[in-house]
Parts: sequence; C-alpha cells; structure tokens
Amino acid sequence: MFQRPSIDPAVTGSIDVARHDRPSWQRVLQDAVRDIDELAGLLEIPAARLRAVACEPGFPLLVPRGFVARMRKGDLDDPLLLQVLPRAEEDVRAAGFSDDPLGEQDIADDGVIRKYRGRTLLIASGACPVHCRYCFRREFPYSGQLASRHGWEGAIGKLRGRGDIGEVILSGGDPLSVSNRGLQTLFDALDTIDSVRSIRIHTRFPVMIPERVDTGLLALLGRSSARIVVVVHCNHANELDDSVEAALRELAGPADLLLNQSVLLRGVNDDAATLANLSRRLFDCGVLPYYLNALDPVTGTAHFEVVDERARALLADLRAELPGYLVPKLVREIPGASSKMPL
Ligand SMILES: *Cc1c(COP(=O)(O)O)cnc(C)c1O
Ligand code: SF4
Repeated sequence: MFQRPSIDPAVTGSIDVARHDRPSWQRVLQDAVRDIDELAGLLEIPAARLRAVACEPGFPLLVPRGFVARMRKGDLDDPLLLQVLPRAEEDVRAAGFSDDPLGEQDIADDGVIRKYRGRTLLIASGACPVHCRYCFRREFPYSGQLASRHGWEGAIGKLRGRGDIGEVILSGGDPLSVSNRGLQTLFDALDTIDSVRSIRIHTRFPVMIPERVDTGLLALLGRSSARIVVVVHCNHANELDDSVEAALRELAGPADLLLNQSVLLRGVNDDAATLANLSRRLFDCGVLPYYLNALDPVTGTAHFEVVDERARALLADLRAELPGYLVPKLVREIPGASSKMPL
C-alpha cells in the first residue's frame, strides 16, 4: 500500500529558527497525534468507542494537537474530527470512485502539472501538516513526482522552457512543508523567469500549524518580486481560532491576496448556516472565500459526497444571505477541462 512521505530532511534542511516565544513548526509537526487511542484520550471519548468507528488505512491518522484542541470534547460527529479520523466507511468501494480521479498521475512531469493555460502547478512536497480523509491526492505517487528533487532543477528547467507561464502555483502535499531555506532557493529561481508575475501557495499550514508563519517565511515572501497569493484551506469556522487568525493577519503583510478554498463535505459543512459562518469568520481573519470544491471521487471518500442538487441549493442560500464577495465559487474539477467547472 502506498505510504505518504513524511517531511524529508533533505528538502526541509535545517530546523527553521523559531521565534523565542513559539516552538518551531517542525517540532509541532513531530509532536502531532498519530494514534487513535491518544486522540480518544484528548477528546475524552472512550478509546473503544472511537476504535469502533475507525479503521487503519494506508493513509494514516495525522493531526496536530492545536487542531485537536479546537474539536468539541466527547463528540464523534465533530466537524473537525470527521475531517481527520480514518473511519470504517473508507473501506467501502463505491462505483465512480478511483485512486486518480483527476487523471493527474499521467500528466505530472518532474513534479510539474500543467493543465490550465498560463498557470502551472508544482508539486513542491508530498508531506502535509495533517492527513485530510477526503484528500484528492491521497493516493498520489509522490516519490517520483516532487519538483523539489535535485534543488528544483528539473521543474525550473521545464518552466523556463516556456515563455507563457504567468503564475506558478505551489501545491503538494503542502508546499510549506518545505523549509524556508528550500523555499528561498525556489523563489530565487522563479525570480529569474521573466514571465512569472505571481506565485500562488496552496497551503493548509496556517490553519493546521500556525507556527509555520514564522519570521523567516514572512521575510522570504516579502522579498519576492512576484505578487504573492496565498490560498489557505479551511472547511469550518471552528478551525479558525485566535492563533490561526493571528497567523493569517501576519501573512497579510507580505501577501498581496489571501483566499480560502473549501471542500463541500457531508456532515462537516453541508448546510447553509455553517458555510455562511465560515465565510464571515474568514472575513474576520482577512481572508476571502475563493472556491467551494465538490468532492473529487477518490477511493475511500464516498461517505463525504454531497449531491449536486443539494450543493446548488446551498449556494443559492449563501447568495441570499451574504454579500457577494463572501460567496465562494462552487466548482468541480473535470479531467481534461480547460479550467475548473462551475457546478
Ligand atoms: C486548480 C488548479 C489550478 C488553478 O486554477 P484556478 O482556477 O486559477 O484557481 C491550476 N492548475 C491545476 C492543476 C489545478 O488543479
Ligand atoms: S493538507 Fe491538502 S494535500 Fe494534504 S492531506 Fe489535506 S487536502 Fe490533502
């Protein structure tokens, strides 16, 4: 069974210098919860009760303690817990669900995925600060597909060869799993490609491990001559506590734009009040909603599916409830399409 890589020391390099008053993000990640019984203890749920609904998949439990602290105690249906607990439903094989629903494994080349015009996505790292159960790349063969291999050389060569790339999107896994030093090397190389006007970072780190937004990261983003767009990933307002808000406020310094993308998930955020609260809470944190993604049909995630009709009805409720700038775009990714498709 495929094993997700952990943080690769060859890529992450030395431990980034922590601020005196905060632990380094690497330490917080090392200390993340990986054991169901321990998770049960922290949530004050009897271990046998949590085990009864759980499974032991190849894509294992990984959740930072700070995120666990935002979950309701004793609640098996907590919307944050549902995103990270490997549940028995994952073993269900559902029609239409596969390991590579977006057909990405064939187009990735040296960690570079170019599906849309003018934008190119780099798989910067296979590691994540959390293992989200619904992840569309949970079965992605990262080991052969990391742009960070050999000091980004192959990936940068591919980008340089084309004059038409205005935006480079750093994805993964989570690109902020790469150390500040590794990111600096990449940003320096991107700075030498004239066509690249903006660098976009798709990351769940500020929400999962806000310590990642450290002085080194803020400085390197601030030094880049490209526009910086950060797209965080948050599915429920309860994910955004004061520590996350503070990290997002700091990111707003060097970043030109802060956006959020969510995945529409049954039992987590599939009602209008929850989605409206999420939009409002994001706005409090200086972040605008960007995409609300329909679930990608990856193996083991069928229990999260929300049917299209319901998704459209939710969006209509949001439009009636919120100012237009707080309504996300409801989209789905279709293999072979020239952009994400409105639902
Ligand atoms: C989502 C995505 C993008 C970015 O699309 P936008 O609509 O600009 O946000 C680019 N490349 C790939 C492969 C993507 O999946
Ligand atoms: S952080 Fe992103 S890439 Fe990583 S498991 Fe979650 S959804 Fe997938």
